[in-house]
Amino acid sequence: MIREVEILVAGGGPAGLCAAAAAASLGAKVLLCERSDVPGGQLVKQTHKFFGSEKQYAGDRGIHIGRTLADAAVNHPNIEILTDAAVLGIYEDGVVTVLYKNQHLKIRPKRTIVATGAAEKFLAFPNNDLPGIYGAGAVQTLMNVHGVKPAERVLMVGAGNIGLIVSYQLLQAGVEVAGVIEAAPRIGGYLVHASKLRRAGVPIRTGYTIKEAYGNGKLEGAVICRLDENWKPVPGTEEDIRCDTICLAVGLTPLAELCWQAGCQMAFIRELSGHVPVVDGNLETSIPGLYAAGDISGIEEASAAMVEGRLAGYAAAGSLGYEPQKAGELRQGAAEELAELRSGPAGARIMAGLEKAAALLAARKGGAGPC
Ligand SMILES: Cc1cc2nc3c(=O)[nH]c(=O)nc-3n(C[C@H](O)[C@H](O)[C@H](O)COP(=O)(O)OP(=O)(O)OC[C@H]3O[C@@H](n4cnc5c(N)ncnc54)[C@H](O)[C@@H]3O)c2cc1C
Repeated sequence: MIREVEILVAGGGPAGLCAAAAAASLGAKVLLCERSDVPGGQLVKQTHKFFGSEKQYAGDRGIHIGRTLADAAVNHPNIEILTDAAVLGIYEDGVVTVLYKNQHLKIRPKRTIVATGAAEKFLAFPNNDLPGIYGAGAVQTLMNVHGVKPAERVLMVGAGNIGLIVSYQLLQAGVEVAGVIEAAPRIGGYLVHASKLRRAGVPIRTGYTIKEAYGNGKLEGAVICRLDENWKPVPGTEEDIRCDTICLAVGLTPLAELCWQAGCQMAFIRELSGHVPVVDGNLETSIPGLYAAGDISGIEEASAAMVEGRLAGYAAAGSLGYEPQKAGELRQGAAEELAELRSGPAGARIMAGLEKAAALLAARKGGAGPC
């Protein structure tokens, strides 16, 4: 049996939860499917206080923001949330398949918003398959969701925000952080996070990479080395770092498989961190009625993911005839909020990526550029 729904949201992170709440606030009926056992996305493990503007809960801890968004969605009469519900495929006849608690559901939504977030990137080096080598997000989940001390002594690879924040959280969990290494010539994350680590005595070395890991059956250490200005290892600069865990915090990439499979126009845009669906000003993909919001359409921050989710939710509900004028005004408000969020130096990379996407979109249909 195929279940008919008005709006299906795939993914219950900040983008998906905000999309559902926005569409429901205009009267649309929403079904949200989240593959994990709790909604909240990345926020469920983020115990630190967020930066940004008050409108996006700055100053609050990610975990609290996630709960606030999830509670609002759970308690809304127009929203139904299925957890343990992985969206598997979006097909040409409009049917979406979902694996829900071992059952195979078939759903035919009038509109679909894909908000599946991102996946961690990995790094190629000898012995990178030894037990003890993790993505930083996995380590953060072990510590902050499951209460497991993940290591005794860690080498962190990557000094972006994730590497810096997870290093500090490792210290808080009683783990020794042997050091943070970063291949780029400068620290990529906020300096306030780097300063906290340095004050705690953790060395952060830029222009360094991991040459190899070693260990007998499990990780026992890593060899690191300096990189020259052409990112080539400098012979003779190798150092041995004893550690039982290596954490890789080398970036995220959009989790866009559903959009690939649905046949959306996709593009590799470096500034958006990988292959993304090309969307218009309503965050609608090249497939009418299929929207993409949050990290799936470019790795950014939870603040932008929330606003993108709202924008897509208003656009989808408005297109179904729910208060179209109000939906248009709210959609415009969200677009302005996004422009403000991206107006600082940190938004320059995203803006450059969106310009490339806008050119592709214009070539496709000569329509409005992405917001
Ligand atoms: C360590 C760390 C620190 C951060 N700090 C900050 C910060 O200080 N400020 C800030 O603004 N941002 C921060 N961020 C970034 C922020 O968490 C993300 O940008 C944000 O969570 C993206 O939201 P999203 O909804 O697009 O994706 P996600 O939060 O990743 O949510 C996607 C959801 O979709 C689900 N999903 C995936 N595939 C499927 C499927 N097929 N079917 C059903 N469900 C699916 C996933 O389980 C997940 O729940 C941080 C991120 C990390 C990792």
